[in-house]
Amino acid sequence: MKYIEEFQDPALAERLLGEIRAAVTRPWALMEVCGGQTHTIIRHGIDQLLPDEVELIHGPGCPVCVTPLEVIDKALEIASRPGVIFCSFGDMLRVPGTGRDLFQVRGEGGDVRVVYSPLDALRIARQNPGRQVVFFGIGFETTAPPNAMTVYQARRLGIPNFSLLVSHVRVPPAIEAIMRSPKCRVQGFLAAGHVCSVMGTGEYPELSERHRVPIVVTGFEPLDILEGVRRTVLQLERGEHSVENAYPRAVRPEGNPAARAMLDDVFEVTDRAWRGIGVIPDSGWRLSPRYREYDAEHRFQVTGIDTREPAACRSGEVLQGLLKPHECEAFGTVCTPRSPLGATMVSSEGACAAYYLYRRLDLPSAASRPLEGSPVV
Ligand code: SF4
Repeated sequence: MKYIEEFQDPALAERLLGEIRAAVTRPWALMEVCGGQTHTIIRHGIDQLLPDEVELIHGPGCPVCVTPLEVIDKALEIASRPGVIFCSFGDMLRVPGTGRDLFQVRGEGGDVRVVYSPLDALRIARQNPGRQVVFFGIGFETTAPPNAMTVYQARRLGIPNFSLLVSHVRVPPAIEAIMRSPKCRVQGFLAAGHVCSVMGTGEYPELSERHRVPIVVTGFEPLDILEGVRRTVLQLERGEHSVENAYPRAVRPEGNPAARAMLDDVFEVTDRAWRGIGVIPDSGWRLSPRYREYDAEHRFQVTGIDTREPAACRSGEVLQGLLKPHECEAFGTVCTPRSPLGATMVSSEGACAAYYLYRRLDLPSAASRPLEGSPVV
């Protein structure tokens, strides 16, 4: 398939690996920001093919995983209300809130529906004028534009019974927070290509300069990852730090101007809590005052949320790159894709799910761990 198979070529992969091996003279720790990249790395064993000196740390770029528990609990509360049709992408239904998930709400009679686009939710709202229809809008700069467009359309078409429960997050403030952490070991970043295809690369030079860290924009196929690693390692070995675009087939410096204009119109930047990490300044979006009437939090006035994270779950450390998933004691025992304790085991982009899906049989204590099916997402 065009743009996929040609970026999985084993001979080219071996050549890139050879160049990385030839360049490395000392240990380097790189972070891939996006959960999609983490899955490519674990699925293809890229981290095991790299020289021992190059460590890949998995970052907080899984949108489902970082959605804060409080927002999940608000979604559960709104979805439980009579007359509400709660719409979401399927991967949010198994994310555990405090004590239950959206599947359970549906089992208890809530009208929770899986949709494939926020515009599906808008169509449902038009078809059900007597019901309140809510779409669960989570994710990074990639999912924010279509959600912004849906709110824009709701207002343009005069559909008053639609609202958005918003928990959008932005990558650059997360990189800033990671670099400011006293525990940070990251020396170079593989930035997420799909985020940059929307936002461009303009937010990164300042970050790179301030923290003297290479940032290389990469894609999601094995050769994309290897080329990103090669360029980052070359910069580190030379003592340089700059922003490079290793994904030019999708990323232009200016990004997607139409999508950015829609974001600027519908959303405004706000502080956001990241699950397992805490509040990161200016790291999210909420609906701007012009669109506040479409804000589900404003419309439903959910209060009295009392969140409780499972004590055994260490996903916060996993999301910050401080712990590998299999180092969590619950991994593969009490926490599996069928009974996840944390969002990083639920999501198709979660690091814990990636290790469970592709690596559990190779891990030290895997023999004593129960086998289950693939993550259901
Ligand atoms: S393995 Fe499960 S309990 Fe452990 S950090 Fe991952 S999601 Fe949390």
